[in-house]
Amino acid sequence: MDPAQHLDRTGDVLVTDGRIAALDPNARAPGTPVVDARGLIVCPGLIDIHVHLREPGAEHKETIETGTRAAAAGGFTAVACMPNTKPAIDTVETLTLIIERARAVGSCRVYPVATITARREGIELADVAALRRHGAIAFSDDGDGVENDDLMRAAFQQAKDLDVVLIQHCEYKSISAGGVMHKGAVSDRLGLPGLDRASEDRMIERDIALMRETGARYHVAHISTAGAVQLVRDAKAEGLPITTEVCPHHLLLTDEACTERDPNTKMHPPLRSAADVDACKAGLVDGTIDCIVTDHAPHAADEKAKGFLAAPPGIVGIESSLALVLKAFPDASPMGWLGLIHRMTVAPAEVLGLEVPTLSPGRPADLTLIDPHAKWRIDPVAFHSKSRNTPFSGWGVVGRPVATFLGGRLSHCLDSEDRRLEWRKAAIN
Ligand SMILES: [Zn+2]
Repeated sequence: MDPAQHLDRTGDVLVTDGRIAALDPNARAPGTPVVDARGLIVCPGLIDIHVHLREPGAEHKETIETGTRAAAAGGFTAVACMPNTKPAIDTVETLTLIIERARAVGSCRVYPVATITARREGIELADVAALRRHGAIAFSDDGDGVENDDLMRAAFQQAKDLDVVLIQHCEYKSISAGGVMHKGAVSDRLGLPGLDRASEDRMIERDIALMRETGARYHVAHISTAGAVQLVRDAKAEGLPITTEVCPHHLLLTDEACTERDPNTKMHPPLRSAADVDACKAGLVDGTIDCIVTDHAPHAADEKAKGFLAAPPGIVGIESSLALVLKAFPDASPMGWLGLIHRMTVAPAEVLGLEVPTLSPGRPADLTLIDPHAKWRIDPVAFHSKSRNTPFSGWGVVGRPVATFLGGRLSHCLDSEDRRLEWRKAAIN
């Protein structure tokens, strides 16, 4: 399945020297090793443009090595990592460190997102031009929104000049201050401070106005409210270059999941109402929401054990992403498999301006092999990530990436050790 070519058919993929050589090759060279993928979907490698790899600064939660290993296990061949590391990715030095580290130990391609503002403080702009020149794929203060209007306007102007996308974590802390879950009947019942939808919606409104002024590309991170979905839908209808993404947990869970005060149900933006979940699902189906991301946010067990109020927000997601999307949309309906894979390959690549992933001859053999019928249970203990913070522990799911190839080499294989050796041999030749 190759969404870029609207291709869905049975056949062989010939890989030579780490690149796609042909589709449906009718003459296999004698001695060519074969990966038996009968019954599996073969598609371009999945891309997650919103993950937290935690390195540098919080290597007890995750490292570039473990995070990209987890990504490969989730079927991903590329991720964009967010800059709320310590130090933040606001200097060429830190940016370069991540790029080099990922090249040395990464199990997938890593595209670092750099900060919009210096030290992610929201006071003055980072040197975005230099960061762009040295490989920043996009800019974001993720974890925080840029609240100051003049500063955000200046960021938009720079982004327009550099033809780069700004990714906004849409949250006015002045509205959300102190909130730990969605503000509504459930937060009232639990007596927990709420995060109002308005903190997300108002920032998107402000940014859409700045887009009209500047014409810069803009991407709403982890959309979660019905109002936000409608704002993006209207802005797209107006012709503005706006895109957005949604996380599996915002397609599956509501604030009712917080009833037991499990810190693994605490994230920003929070789990919201059933109406918001329905709006996110409808937005993903109709194309208002461009792509699926995880906001993979590893935290150590003792940090999450501090209780709902004190625990840091966020959950891991990169190893359960595809299966959870299929939980929300069984058998990929109504988007269809091509449509779903599009939202996890072509669409995220387009948001960042990456080359569109496709199975065309000459392109790197970044491939994901998916068993669409595999039934399994999500078990955090088996995660390759350093962290286990997920509210989906024990969930029964259907559909699973079983092997991932990065530039023709096996970066993950779920199957038996025998199969793994056989495939690795095939992949090396
Ligand atoms: Zn965020």
